[in-house]
Amino acid sequence: ISPVSEKKLHMTQIKQPVPLPVLLTSKRTTIEQHQKSLPVYNCRQRILRELELNDTVLIMSETGSGKTTQIPQFLLHAGYAKNGMIGITQPRRVAAITVAKRVAQEMSGGLGDTVGYTVRFEDVTSKRTKIRFLTDGVLLRESIKDRLLLKYSAIILDEAHERTVNADLLFGIVKEAQKERRKQKLGSLKVVVTSATMDIDHFGKYFNCKGMYLEGRTYPVRVMHAKEEQDDYVHAVLVTLFHIHRTTPPNHDVLIFLTGQEEIESLAHQIRQLAKVDVSGTSDLRVYSLYAQLSQNKQLECFLPTPANIRKVILATNIAETSITIPGIRCVIDCGFVKEKSFNSADGLDVLKSVRISKAQAWQRTGRAGRDAAGTCYRAYTKKQMDSFADATQPEVLRTNPTAMVLQLLALDIDCNNFDFLDAPPEEGLRSAYKSLDALGAIKSGSVSHITPLGRQMVMFPLDPKYAKLLLTASSFGCMEEILSLVSVLTSDHVFVSNTDKNEMASLAHAKFQSKHGDHLTLLNVFNAFVKTEKPKVWCHDNYLNLRSLTYARNVRRQLTEISERLDLVLNSTDDIEMLKKCLLNGFFENIAVLQRDGFYVTVSGNIRAKIHPSSVLHGKYKPSYILFTEIVQTEQTFLRQVSEISIEWIKEVVPFVKNIPTR
Ligand code: ADP
Ligand code: MG
Repeated sequence: ISPVSEKKLHMTQIKQPVPLPVLLTSKRTTIEQHQKSLPVYNCRQRILRELELNDTVLIMSETGSGKTTQIPQFLLHAGYAKNGMIGITQPRRVAAITVAKRVAQEMSGGLGDTVGYTVRFEDVTSKRTKIRFLTDGVLLRESIKDRLLLKYSAIILDEAHERTVNADLLFGIVKEAQKERRKQKLGSLKVVVTSATMDIDHFGKYFNCKGMYLEGRTYPVRVMHAKEEQDDYVHAVLVTLFHIHRTTPPNHDVLIFLTGQEEIESLAHQIRQLAKVDVSGTSDLRVYSLYAQLSQNKQLECFLPTPANIRKVILATNIAETSITIPGIRCVIDCGFVKEKSFNSADGLDVLKSVRISKAQAWQRTGRAGRDAAGTCYRAYTKKQMDSFADATQPEVLRTNPTAMVLQLLALDIDCNNFDFLDAPPEEGLRSAYKSLDALGAIKSGSVSHITPLGRQMVMFPLDPKYAKLLLTASSFGCMEEILSLVSVLTSDHVFVSNTDKNEMASLAHAKFQSKHGDHLTLLNVFNAFVKTEKPKVWCHDNYLNLRSLTYARNVRRQLTEISERLDLVLNSTDDIEMLKKCLLNGFFENIAVLQRDGFYVTVSGNIRAKIHPSSVLHGKYKPSYILFTEIVQTEQTFLRQVSEISIEWIKEVVPFVKNIPTR
């Protein structure tokens, strides 16, 4: 990576106070000053006037200008919450939660009072709630029961550029709700679509409305590219960070974009080890992580100001790209990758993989360095490499498995083929989704497809249809309790702590949970032991297990149990492992793989060649002929994660319709 220019830096410069450490103070004046300093404040009247005249308004302005935190308050004070709530959707839980906390604080109220949030498996709202932050998934599920969204008088669809499947569906649903409410004279539904970057023309045509561009306030950012292609971008990032650390004053906080939790935690660990520590045991670098699975308190930590002589380094996923603004950042290091789910309609499977970011993303990341003062962005890729990046990120509907979406729409009595999409998904993928839902028993396809009673029950669970199917059929296999636990642990990632200094100790601790049947039973063993322990914190620490993930899983289980009880499912239990695995097969019949002579596995859907993930208990030693997996991960190699051994006889018995099983 090219060196910074030789400009002399004032090493004695003291750290400026972070613009507004409002988080630490409740003084009204400070908050008001902060609010008035935000670019959206000056446009307040303009926004309200536009909304008075139109039902829908598009607002585009720089990240950090106050869209998410201020616009809901403008609407509230302008009286829009008299006949319903103001809902603000976010693509991610973390953003919904942190922003709700922030707004509650600005309004000096408790969370769940005037301001609240609802995310999957967690609702912090009350009857008094007027401003409600929620994930787009939650609003979508609400629309199944309430097509016209009558609870809301206004909806802000935030981060529109992220174009998640859920957001895209909501665009169509709010448009329809607006039309119906007007027709039935049920009170208007005001819609505000906001984003840091969006194709205003495209959205404007779709919503038939005008766009507003609010002038932001940013400082110039110097961009540095890698001189040559980097084989190991994590290493490049590390070298760059210490270069910055050596050559810039400590008030230049650094934001690093990486792809995911494992990468972040492993690099954070390395940085902490390399950072200088003084006699008092404090380091001159303070490292924070920011990714979706992190606990809320940990997520909020990175907003706290650090002492003047300590540099703050934040390792984040693309969550920090636009959803969350951290004050004080002067340097950005961009690895140039993002983890994305993508789907190939030919094989019907979603694959999680690191892919190149788009040019638009690269510029958003760059912009994070110029919020408070002029900054620098270091890119771990060459200029030439960047030329080959796509201009903008493809909407998720165009690249992920549409199965859950098709089912969700059918629950709303909408046939995908007639839905008013902003961008319609490819027909081939839709066809394979219908086929897959038919095989799951969720729909009856024909010239017109209908959702079955089973399908209606499936959408009651906020889960992928495969997992919902598992829960709905577990009673008939006699293993409902076990499947409830298993699905819950599977929804919460990274139960095992790795990347510690004591990897051997960790493996030893993990060994006692291992089941020869595979990862699913191993995870179940962990979960069962966890719920029995009286001192979960100590126990997790001693066993190198992730307390947060397991606590999350326990909460998820409680919620799934409630839904199961509402659906009158029998909560039975078994110790017959064969039945349990047959039950798994019943939901995951698309995720079967067969061992080949060369040691690779080939998947039944799509003929993908892959190996068992190194983290699996079935990795290495003995290779079963037939396995079932829950996830495909693609890095340089393709891996199957969370695998269990199954037998060909079970396939014939439980899911006889599965054909084209590759030969061994
Ligand atoms: P936008 O949605 O336009 O990107 P936000 O409304 O999220 O902007 O944020 C506006 C400003 O509020 C940010 O620039 C930041 O200074 C401040 N801010 C937002 N959330 C927090 C927080 N949790 N703690 C401290 N400051 C925050
Ligand atoms: Mg925002």
